[in-house]
Amino acid sequence: MKLFGTANCFLATVLFSAGALAFAPEQAGPVRSVSQRRPGDRPNMQQSKIGLVVHGGAGTIERSKMTPEREREYRAGVERALSAGYEILKRGGSSLDAAEAAVRVFEDDPRFNAGRGSVFTNIGTNELDAAVMDGKTLRAGAVGCLEHIKNPVSLARLVMEKSGHVMMVGEGAETFARENGADFVEQKYFYTKERWDALEKMKATEKSGGPEKKFIISGQDRHGTVGAVALDRDGNLAAATSTGGTTNKRTGRVGDSPVIGGGTYANNATCAVSATGDGEYFIRATVGHDISALMEYRGMSLKEAADAVLDKVAKLGGTGGLIAIDRHGNIALPFNTSGMYRGYADPNGKFVVEIYR
Ligand code: ASP
Repeated sequence: MKLFGTANCFLATVLFSAGALAFAPEQAGPVRSVSQRRPGDRPNMQQSKIGLVVHGGAGTIERSKMTPEREREYRAGVERALSAGYEILKRGGSSLDAAEAAVRVFEDDPRFNAGRGSVFTNIGTNELDAAVMDGKTLRAGAVGCLEHIKNPVSLARLVMEKSGHVMMVGEGAETFARENGADFVEQKYFYTKERWDALEKMKATEKSGGPEKKFIISGQDRHGTVGAVALDRDGNLAAATSTGGTTNKRTGRVGDSPVIGGGTYANNATCAVSATGDGEYFIRATVGHDISALMEYRGMSLKEAADAVLDKVAKLGGTGGLIAIDRHGNIALPFNTSGMYRGYADPNGKFVVEIYR
């Protein structure tokens, strides 16, 4: 059962937004003016720190409902994604490559709501959304309502690099994908029993009616998303997000994940963000860009900005979480749900994987 109603979301946020960490000291000295900080800015000449944070979705994830085996599988999935991205960063690869690689691993894992494990729409189909953003150039690519693309995050990157556009959806996006050699799959590739059962449960609840129907379905049944944010050796930030959206969504619905400045954002001058949660609220709160803007214009730290914006989401009535990293390698992982699959590489390169608050 969903743990929090709208009324006490604010309190929940205060209680649960404890996931922010700082490996590096917060920015010392006066805040640099906006005109001094531009996209592509090299934060400092000795930049050599690398950083990676990933998430596999936030929601009602309760320890009591998790078997040890299931928990192990989720933890291993998060670790595989971390490992794929971190290997690239360690070798001196780009944050964009690392974020994309981490998200591809999640997309191929049926346990997470993205790619293979995507949830079903109200007519029993799967429609996938994804985005990438390069903090160095502020270039971005996003895709929505894909029905046959194995790895939407890589198509988002192709859109960014080869289409001349930022966002492409549906058939047109798939035509572009075919022209550019993306991997195609049939819809049955996305079938998982767990997601199908969740759709049926949701349909049954809907039929039985009642204003509380949203809260009878657990967060895990309803949604999920995967994402990664990375800082590379050259001081460049990148973000990537991918999702099947929300169970029983109308066909044609697009969530926050592919909305640049909503569920995905990166800017070398500030931070990289990937969000998960009730997409409609995250879009309305312009989560990714707001965090960046609070840092850029108000001089807030990453943690302050991330907490403030998640509070804003909660006040609107939305639940979820986000991962973020700044140009110094500070990270924040706040969420206002009972759990969020998440992981990061600590300063010694050791992987930390967490699920519950
Ligand atoms: N934010 C995603 C969407 O609304 C779902 C989620 O992250 O749980 O599509």
